[in-house]
Amino acid sequence: MTGPQDWPEAQWRGLVDRVGTGRRLVPDWPGGARCALALSFDCDHETFALGAGETAVGPLAWGAFGRRVGVPRILDTLARHGARATFFYPAVSALIDPEEPRRVVAAGHEIGVHGWIHERNDTLTEDEERTLLARSRDTLAEIAGTEIVGHRAAHWDLSPHTVRLVAEAGFLYDSSLMADEDPYEVLLEGRASGLVELPVDWVRDDAVYLLFSRQPTRPTHTPEQVFEVFRAELDGAHATGGLCQIVMHPFVVGYRSRIAILERLLQHAARLGGVHIGTHAEIARLCQARIGA
Ligand SMILES: [Zn+2]
Repeated sequence: MTGPQDWPEAQWRGLVDRVGTGRRLVPDWPGGARCALALSFDCDHETFALGAGETAVGPLAWGAFGRRVGVPRILDTLARHGARATFFYPAVSALIDPEEPRRVVAAGHEIGVHGWIHERNDTLTEDEERTLLARSRDTLAEIAGTEIVGHRAAHWDLSPHTVRLVAEAGFLYDSSLMADEDPYEVLLEGRASGLVELPVDWVRDDAVYLLFSRQPTRPTHTPEQVFEVFRAELDGAHATGGLCQIVMHPFVVGYRSRIAILERLLQHAARLGGVHIGTHAEIARLCQARIGA
C-alpha cells in the first residue's frame, strides 16, 4: 500500500510551502482605534447557481433575491451606521445588473473580484485561470469605474496556481485563506510575495450557519446565535488589537429576520468604541505599509 505515509519529506514540505505565511501585519489602526472590523458581502446572486452548472429557474430566482432585496437592505443598514464595506462580485453577477455595483461604489464601498461566474478554480487550467482573472478584473473595473485591488476566490476554492496568479496580476490583497485571524504576508515557495492576506474563516461566514439547500443542508443556527458568534469574534479582536473579518451573502443574510445580525453587530461595534470599520482595500494598504517596515 502506498499513500501519503510514503511521501518523502521534499514532497510534503513542497506542498506546505507552496503558499505559506509570512509576517503578521497588524498596523496602528486609524484614529487610535483598538481594532478593525472588515465587513464583506459576496454578491454571488444568480452565479451561485450558474457557476455550479445549475440552470433551473428556482435557484436563479433565489439568487435574484440577493440582488433585489439583500443588497438594498445591506446598503441601507451600512449607510445608517456610516460604515464602509467590501462587496465581492463574480463578473457575471455585475454584468447582469451593472447598476448595482455602481450604486455600491457610489455609496463609498469597495468592489473586489470573486471569479467570473463563481466557477471553481481547481477545475481550470493555469492558462484559463489567468485569463479569467484578468477578464473578471477588467470587467468589474469598467462597470464600476474604479480600480480593483482585491481578490476572493469563489468558494474560497484555490488551485495550486491561484494565489501566485493573484500576486502576479498585481493585486494588493487576497481574502480567501485561513492561516490566521489577523492579516499576514503571503509567501510563495518560501519567498515574500508582497501580497497581503486578509484571512477569512468558516466561523465568520453567515452561509455556514444559515444556508439551506435541498441536499441535507439546513440552517443550524438562529440569527440570534449567528450574531453571538460574530459578536464574540469582534470582542476577541478588540481584546487583542487585531482584525475581525466577516463574510456575508445578500441571499443569505438579506432577509427580514436576519439583517438584524448586521444591524446588531454595527450597534455592538459602536458600543465597544475604538473599532475602526474600513474596506478591505483600506485595511490591506495599512498592512502593506508594514511589509519591510
Ligand atoms: Zn461566493
